[in-house]
Amino acid sequence: MPPEPNRRPMAKKEHKRYRFNPQTLTYEVITIPFRVRFYRLLRKILIAFILASLANLAFSYFFYTPKMYRINKQREELVLQYNLLNNRIHAATARLDDIRRRDNGVYRALFAVDTMNIQGVYTPYPDAKYASLDEQDRFAPMIRRSWTDIDALGRRLYAESRSLDDLQPMAADKEKMTESVPAIWPLDKRKIRSIGAFGGRTDPVYGGRAFHEGMDFSGPVGTPIYATGNGRVMINPTGYAGYGRQIMIDHGFGYRTRYAHLSRIAVIPGQSVKRGEKIGELGNSGKSTGPHLHYEVIVRGTPVNPVNYFSKEMSDADFANIIASARETTFEVD
Ligand SMILES: [Zn+2]
Repeated sequence: MPPEPNRRPMAKKEHKRYRFNPQTLTYEVITIPFRVRFYRLLRKILIAFILASLANLAFSYFFYTPKMYRINKQREELVLQYNLLNNRIHAATARLDDIRRRDNGVYRALFAVDTMNIQGVYTPYPDAKYASLDEQDRFAPMIRRSWTDIDALGRRLYAESRSLDDLQPMAADKEKMTESVPAIWPLDKRKIRSIGAFGGRTDPVYGGRAFHEGMDFSGPVGTPIYATGNGRVMINPTGYAGYGRQIMIDHGFGYRTRYAHLSRIAVIPGQSVKRGEKIGELGNSGKSTGPHLHYEVIVRGTPVNPVNYFSKEMSDADFANIIASARETTFEVD
């Protein structure tokens, strides 16, 4: 009986390998040990993994992967948002500039106070403050700019709020200020013979161009001179000796007035005076070509044209009234 050929079990679909054994003259099923099969599988997985990685690397080198695409999209979004933020910071800074201009040009000018200057408030912070931002990527300049601008904005807001704090009590003093700022003629207009204007002119004594820091009103010696606003007679009026007998009144709020070439002084240093109160008499003292009053209005140390401080709308009758009422109030002063 021939040896039964080793039959393939038909039931099993599994693919098997056979080997002819010359000694037994039979085909034997090759049995591969589990260990070897495991290692082969492992090797296959490893190779597949390496190939996949290489493919992925090559792909991502030439193309955006969806993830990178997403990240890039987010980054663009971030840059956009940052630019919007920077724009808004600039808009806020521009508005603050506007407020500052109004503060300096209107409110501070109205109350005749100096432009406020807090030391260092407009000086940028040292670069060291932003050093940590610089180690980043190409977005660092953008982020740094935002930081710098926001810091500057904060400092200027601080300055502006301090400035408004300053102005608040002045606004409360507005009434007092209205009475103090020079606002009338320093003498009866009807007594004036001629007027020397403020500004550049030929010097009447020495010839040559000189800047005339006040207005000259020529008239009879002894014409009463009136304080043009409430204030206090200064103790040591500055100015050159050519002014002769002179009075300087400090009105507060940054205003001073000077009355020069007087023949007589009717007040004493430190005395409080009211607007319209007689303080002296017109004369010819100091360097003068004839009897006249030299009148100056000085705002924060700078002589300005007094013509703007005469209340143009004031009639002669009003003027006379003020003088009359001032005479009455004179007796009420201190
Ligand atoms: Zn003069």
